[in-house]
Amino acid sequence: MFPKTHITIAAAATVIVTATVLMSPSSNVEAKRMSYSLDLEQGTVAKTNPEPERSEQPVSPSVEEQPASAAGDDAGEQPVQQVGVTDSAIPAAPDKPELEWQTFAIKSGDTLSSLFKKAGFNDGIMLSVIHGDGEAGELQRLYAGETIRFATTGDGALASVELQRNLLETLKVSREGQSFTGEMEVRKPEARPAFASGTIDGSLYLAAREAGLTDQLTMELAGIFGWEIDFVYDVRKGDQFEVVYEELYLDGEKFGAGRILSARFVNRGEENVALLYTDSNGDSDYYNPNGKSMRKAFLRTPINARVSSPFNLQRRHPVLDVVRPHEGTDYGAPPGTPIKAAGAGRVQFAGWKGGYGRTVILKHGDNITTLYAHMSRLGKGMKNGTRVKQGETIGYVGSSGMVTGPHLHYEFRLNGAPRNSRTVKLPDAKPISSSEMARFKQVTEQRIAQFGVFRESYQQLALASDD
Ligand SMILES: [Zn+2]
Repeated sequence: MFPKTHITIAAAATVIVTATVLMSPSSNVEAKRMSYSLDLEQGTVAKTNPEPERSEQPVSPSVEEQPASAAGDDAGEQPVQQVGVTDSAIPAAPDKPELEWQTFAIKSGDTLSSLFKKAGFNDGIMLSVIHGDGEAGELQRLYAGETIRFATTGDGALASVELQRNLLETLKVSREGQSFTGEMEVRKPEARPAFASGTIDGSLYLAAREAGLTDQLTMELAGIFGWEIDFVYDVRKGDQFEVVYEELYLDGEKFGAGRILSARFVNRGEENVALLYTDSNGDSDYYNPNGKSMRKAFLRTPINARVSSPFNLQRRHPVLDVVRPHEGTDYGAPPGTPIKAAGAGRVQFAGWKGGYGRTVILKHGDNITTLYAHMSRLGKGMKNGTRVKQGETIGYVGSSGMVTGPHLHYEFRLNGAPRNSRTVKLPDAKPISSSEMARFKQVTEQRIAQFGVFRESYQQLALASDD
């Protein structure tokens, strides 16, 4: 009997830890978590405060709050809603008995007209709704999978139409007097910090899954450390990671994962720590505890693909069959795969360039250019002089120019001379500025402390489950 109980307890403890370690462990931890509610600037951890979060946006006066007979001129003095529950907290709260709601899941083939008809309203009413004020016209953009609701008053008149696009967005078109007014309501999920940790046995991907991270978070984790660690070649069995990330909640229910707030990755015994920091301009990025950017000024790889042909100044050309230096690196990828700007800069060339085919050349500062060739098409707005950000999509993989198959040919040039983009020493992205350093230290120290709290309670739970 005993071993069985033991296993159950251990399993339960593991689940608690990997799900959200601070949801309920000790009151001590809970208290510490409370004390962090001030430090994380952009309202992230502030939201861990157990007080219920409500949308700050006042809910617009809507007809459903008042009898249709009074809908004319007293919109300003509608009764206070019961127990502070707002419309936005409960979509389409049918809490007024005089409104009758009909709900339809939108399927492909449905039209607004057919949906109005199903609800008992003709095209004339539909037109007066979509020609209403505000964002009422948005009702015409319907997609399968969305939900539409009609509210009818006791006398059969249409009071409002609500189009729920997804869990966060609802277009509400309500009668106001003789006409309709539409407003898009966007809800903000509540973000609560959660913790996951693991040790790599096979791949980061597998270990992260086991730790409860979504694939999306794992990609982000790899992206944060990807500047220092090559997750294809450098990761070893025994490498460890810890992540504090946001779990997003709507009405107390888990909705998805948000951003990574801090992360630690021990690669071959070497510790790397990354902290998310939003500067006074509102720009967020990851830095190490000393304020050094986790990024380089250039992406090592401007595409999510494997090398198909390396940089080689003595290569035989695959088409011409003569020794012709390969002044770049090729990445094999399906046509249409997005190509990212390796660094921030300006477009120096965008168009057709002989054997290179459809090509973009970016200029970064005074002495570095990057070139991206054989595109199927250029990214939006790519023309001479366009400013691009690092990571922005500048084009898509194709097989234009002289090629044997679709791939990206990528060149990195320093003072005009080709360099191997995979080995060239890349300049760091800008560190925290000295004027920002005091604030950075304050925010990140608290975040590091938070990290420690998570880790401790994780270890305590793991320990408790071992006894
Ligand atoms: Zn090439």
